[in-house]
Amino acid sequence: MTSTATAWMAAGLCAQTDPGEFFPEKGASPATAKRLCRACRVREQCLNFAVTNGEQHGVWGGTTVRERARLTERTRGGAS
Ligand code: SF4
Repeated sequence: MTSTATAWMAAGLCAQTDPGEFFPEKGASPATAKRLCRACRVREQCLNFAVTNGEQHGVWGGTTVRERARLTERTRGGAS
């Protein structure tokens, strides 16, 4: 990963909070992380990064892995 590709990460609210909130245990709620993401000024970059890189764990850009999978499916469906 290049530093320019991930420079936005330092500006994320998760960089100032408990990273564990963004990787909840199985069955735990991602609500706290998603609430922080809604107020994060790099949310769009974060979500784009996660979708582009197929992140399979954690809350990125206010989405869970399932929500990102749906976004990807919708994007692929719309492109064909
Ligand atoms: S959108 Fe959420 S996961 Fe992404 S950088 Fe911001 S706080 Fe962190």
